[in-house]
Amino acid sequence: MTTTGSIFDAMLQEFDEAARILNLEPGIWKILTHPKRQITVSCPVQMDNGEIEVFTGYRVQYNITLGPAKGGIRYHPAVTLDEVTALAAWMTWKCAVAHIPFGGGKGGIICDPSRMSRRELEALTRRYVAEIIDAIGPEKDVPAPDVNTNEQVMAWVMDTYSMHVGHTSTAVVTGKPLELGGSLGRRAATGRGVMIATRESARHLGFDVKGATVAIQGFGNVGSVSAQLLAEVGARVVAITDWKGGVYNPKSLDLAALSAHVRQRKSVAGFGGGEELTNEQLFGLDVDVLIPAALENQITMANAPGIKAKVIVEGANGPTLPDAHRYLHEHGVLVIPDILANAGGVTTSYFEWVQDRYGYFWTEKEVNERLEAKMCEAFNAVLQTALRYKLDFRTAAYVVAIGRVATVTRLRGMYA
Ligand code: NAD
Repeated sequence: MTTTGSIFDAMLQEFDEAARILNLEPGIWKILTHPKRQITVSCPVQMDNGEIEVFTGYRVQYNITLGPAKGGIRYHPAVTLDEVTALAAWMTWKCAVAHIPFGGGKGGIICDPSRMSRRELEALTRRYVAEIIDAIGPEKDVPAPDVNTNEQVMAWVMDTYSMHVGHTSTAVVTGKPLELGGSLGRRAATGRGVMIATRESARHLGFDVKGATVAIQGFGNVGSVSAQLLAEVGARVVAITDWKGGVYNPKSLDLAALSAHVRQRKSVAGFGGGEELTNEQLFGLDVDVLIPAALENQITMANAPGIKAKVIVEGANGPTLPDAHRYLHEHGVLVIPDILANAGGVTTSYFEWVQDRYGYFWTEKEVNERLEAKMCEAFNAVLQTALRYKLDFRTAAYVVAIGRVATVTRLRGMYA
């Protein structure tokens, strides 16, 4: 196995802690710590200047015990097989916590899309899909967008796959445009899930989300939708920061005016509806809820001791470092982990796949109601596990996830 790097090791540390609590038998432990399949492909592309470049692409299907592999494809110069494998493992646990019939996968291509034309990106996408064609499909592996890939890239994935199999197959990929089998409600799904997780954690801690104060790092897809939906349930969003700056208004921010400002200026910096605020100040604010919804590794031992929030809801993937997480747990701050808090996105991707296979599409209200039910079910499973074993919510989420995959592995038995 070529997975000795640090990101996969970080995943293994989280795995081991939960596996010990579950008293996992050594055989299942071994199975669940090895990727099922790692594919490496070379993708030759004729560039606009006429020269041929060869790009390296990966697709990892970490575990497909519960169903087809599910996970995004990222385009980035720093993609490695170790990173893709770890991300595929985390998708396995996220899908299992969300209780959807998917395994975990991830893909990536080492490239710099900011230096490529649209034609070059389309050619690269189609060649990559052609190279992994036998491994993907509605029953096998269902990719989705990730860093630097979007609805258009997913449309090319769907078209290339469909050309190869000889018929239109929309369920091979999610995150597609609505016109070709996308789902209503998907763009807002991660933020909606964050809102639900916030509301449920407030209920658990005995305070009302109505009137609660909220600070959010990031005002992109996840941050802006979380802010809007939390305001709709009566929370007071008082602070938001992004890559360039931030704003704080202790009464509450005018989110419609802020969105208009961000559309124009590409940042919340310079918004007149409050005082200026830095990211570091955001983490120390006296608020009820803190939502990191930007980048990984934001909450560290440098800022964790200053955090006053009662609950941190991880909209972003991996925003809290392990030592900071330990400190926060020991000091009574509830952390809702990423694999639970931002599972609304993959849950609605599952709904997209279901609708594509059905050939019948739900209203936005139906999608949102089903998401509400799935998020509450996942939250309660983690809460009950945390209470039963006296665990922090992150370890509890891993216990739920690994327990579910282990149970099905045992039931299916050993094919040999
Ligand atoms: P996005 O690109 O739409 O928005 C990112 C936001 O973070 C922007 O407001 C940006 O200004 C801000 N940001 C960037 N650098 C920053 C910095 N140094 N300091 C403060 N803010 C900074 O991305 P997104 O889709 O909202 O994703 C945010 C996080 O949520 C990522 O960790 C992503 O992996 C995770 N996530 C997203 C989804 C989804 O459906 N979009 C699903 C699951 C997890």
